[in-house]
Amino acid sequence: MHEDIAEVLFTEKQIQERIQELGRQITEDYRGKNVLLLGTLKGAVPFIADLARAIELPLEIDYMAISSYGNSTQSSGIVRIVKDLEGPIDNKHVLIIEDIIDSGLTLAYLVDMLKRRNPLSLRICALLDKERPRAKTVPVDYLGFSIPDKFVVGYGLDYAQYYRNLPYIGILKPSVYGGTEEPEKEHSSPAEKR
Ligand code: 5GP
Ligand code: MG
Ligand code: MG
Repeated sequence: MHEDIAEVLFTEKQIQERIQELGRQITEDYRGKNVLLLGTLKGAVPFIADLARAIELPLEIDYMAISSYGNSTQSSGIVRIVKDLEGPIDNKHVLIIEDIIDSGLTLAYLVDMLKRRNPLSLRICALLDKERPRAKTVPVDYLGFSIPDKFVVGYGLDYAQYYRNLPYIGILKPSVYGGTEEPEKEHSSPAEKR
C-alpha cells in the first residue's frame, strides 16, 4: 500500500468485480442499441477503460473535460467546458461515465446541457456516490459503490493531480494535505511532501 494512504476502501479486486457486474447489466439493458460512453476527464479514465471492456455491445467512446468555477473546496455548479464531444448526440444513446458524485452539481449541470442536445436517451453511471445531503439530485442509473463523505483518491481520483494511478481507492492520511480539514478538491497545488 502507498505510504500516504490511511485506509483502503475498495481493493483492485473489489473494483474489478463490481465493474464486471455493471458491464453485464449495461449489456443487457442496451442490447440492440448503439451506445456512446461519455467519459469525464480526467478522473473517469480508468473506470471507462475497464467498464467498456466489460460491455459486450457495439459502442463509441468520447470524452468531455469540464471544470467548475468558484472556490476550490465547494463545487459551484457553474461549469466550463474545457473539451467538448467530437460530434452531435441526437442519434445516440448516451451513457455518462463519472468517477464520483459529491455535491452532484457538476453532474446536474452536465445533464442539463446534454439534454438540450436531444440524445435518444441519457443515463448516468458513476463509480462512487457520497452519502451526503444534496441541494440538487440527479438520479444515478448505474452505481459502483456508495461511500461515506470522505475525500478519496486512487483509480483515477486525484489529490493535486497525484494518486490517479493507484489501482485501489483509499482515504489519504490527513498529514498529506497538512491538517484535519478536508483537502481542496480542485485547483489545488501539489502538496510539498511527495
Ligand atoms: P460535485 O460537483 O459532485 O461536487 O463534484 C464532483 C467532482 O469533484 C468529481 O468529479 C471530482 O473531480 C471532485 N471530487 C469530489 N469528491 C472527491 C473525492 O472524494 N476525491 C477526489 N479525488 N475528488 C473528488
Ligand atoms: Mg468527475
Ligand atoms: Mg480532481
